[in-house]
Amino acid sequence: MDYWLGYLTLTVIFLSFAVPLNILAGYTGVFSVASTGFGALGGYIAAYLTSLAGWDFGAVLTLALGVGAVVGLLISFPVVRLPEEYVILLTLAFSALIVSIITASPFFGGQLGLIGLPLPGLFGWRPYSALETFLFFSVLAGLMVAVCWRLGESPFGRLLRAIKGDELATRSLGKQTTMIKLGTFAAMSAFSAVGGVLLVSYYSVASPTLFSFDQTMLIFAMVIIGGLGSIPGTILGTLVIVMSEPVLIMLLSFDQQVAAIIRPILFGILIILVLRFRPGGIIQRRRQGLPPHREVTAIVPLGEGEVARTPPALLLVVESVYKRFGGVKAVNDLSLLLAPGRITALLGPNGAGKSTVFNLVTGALTPDAGQVLLDREPLTGSSPEKVARKGVVRSFQDVRVFGDLSALENVMVSDQRNPGENPFITLFLPRRVARHERRARARAIGWLQFVGVEDMHRPADSLSFAQQKLVAIARVLATDAEILLLDEPLSGLEGRSAEHILEVLERIRELGRTVCIVEHNVAAVRRLADHAFFMEQGTVTAAGTVAELLADPRLEEAYFGAH
Ligand code: ADP
Ligand code: MG
Repeated sequence: MDYWLGYLTLTVIFLSFAVPLNILAGYTGVFSVASTGFGALGGYIAAYLTSLAGWDFGAVLTLALGVGAVVGLLISFPVVRLPEEYVILLTLAFSALIVSIITASPFFGGQLGLIGLPLPGLFGWRPYSALETFLFFSVLAGLMVAVCWRLGESPFGRLLRAIKGDELATRSLGKQTTMIKLGTFAAMSAFSAVGGVLLVSYYSVASPTLFSFDQTMLIFAMVIIGGLGSIPGTILGTLVIVMSEPVLIMLLSFDQQVAAIIRPILFGILIILVLRFRPGGIIQRRRQGLPPHREVTAIVPLGEGEVARTPPALLLVVESVYKRFGGVKAVNDLSLLLAPGRITALLGPNGAGKSTVFNLVTGALTPDAGQVLLDREPLTGSSPEKVARKGVVRSFQDVRVFGDLSALENVMVSDQRNPGENPFITLFLPRRVARHERRARARAIGWLQFVGVEDMHRPADSLSFAQQKLVAIARVLATDAEILLLDEPLSGLEGRSAEHILEVLERIRELGRTVCIVEHNVAAVRRLADHAFFMEQGTVTAAGTVAELLADPRLEEAYFGAH
């Protein structure tokens, strides 16, 4: 019995590495392999201070949490900016560095490590029996698992999953993704450091083998086998990996050495099988926004105060901006102005620089020269999230819905004042968060109904292209931004679905927001827009009412000639 309890204790301890790793890799899309590096950091601090300096277990636990967070924050600065491959390399280098410094340093007992650590305990109580030990570690690790689980399955977690899906799209909805990633990395590093404290105090030993590269791979295997983005999956994955040892030895009577050889082979096979037959992991994340029986009756948001908005006042002006990519002058001395409350069309052949204009206005790119003014204030140089928060929100030519999120969740990310996106409010004021979520959900449903998406609970990437485009439009509308920049909302669609989107755009015009729409279809532009700019080779070559522009034969030729 004690034998099995020992392994169960080890399972809960490994959860304090695996669950935070899943929050990083599975939710946020940050593939860090630094779990054991932070574990070693916390573990050796604890070993050194409890055995040689007589520190109390509670004190080292707190210290490890703090050191893990601070070092995690330092490492996270490069991590949040790097592409995935480099994140793996950097975190791997960090882990290797920590472990080799510790091993080389005379204070920490070299390859042997620090042995004979005192029993852990808190508030004057120490666990003696196997059951007490199991309960003691379960409470500590369980607390971290609970925090991670709550964060992951909250509006904050939805934001993390949006970042994993498409960071630029998330920023363009006004979210400060860099801050969120920094904070999440630091917090998860702190948890791994505490995991290290638990591990060394369970074994009464801090040795390099506890934090070796093999261990890192085992922790990753727990997450992958269980399912990225699923906390129950990680719990199962951790159980499978840790408990395989006693199962092989006790139940299947393998020799201890033989079991040590068999286990990695089994894990390898298991990972291959999982990736081949169930790539989402054994317990896949339920890819649904909410179960159909809890369907919320729609509250169409276009009641009082939505249609009858105050007339738009924000004036967006682009003043002779330039942008070149190497030898390509994508935008070349371009100026334009969006009439408040109207739809303005941006016309022009492919490659004229229309999308680049949107990128320059929304802060996805910085102009080489010139400026963008919003109500006479310079917008140039602002980050995409700042621009969005000031009321200028764009859609993307390549749609960019958050594929793993349901249509409803996609639109809920647009909520600009969701208290649940603050991790502390999510953890400590759950009732307030739940109350706001109900309202946010009803509003999002309203916007989805406004654009005509009925399948709200399916993951967005399983919807048709036309439906995805509608979700993207609903997502932009739900930000409440006053100025909407829509990049080719009709492209790639024909017949009924194109007509449907046209009708949606006409309804948007009735909302009285300021809209700039890039569109090729002349008939569509005629129906929608009041004013148009015609762009060629990065600059505006004609401007006027749509009727005027379309009547210009020279222009028609240039336009269709390039088509
Ligand atoms: P449009 O939207 O009008 O079709 P774009 O703004 O997408 O045109 O592109 C204008 C020009 O700038 C094209 O020649 C395109 O290849 C180039 N371009 C756009 N974005 C980039 C980029 N990130 N890097 C290099 N060249 C780019
Ligand atoms: Mg374009």
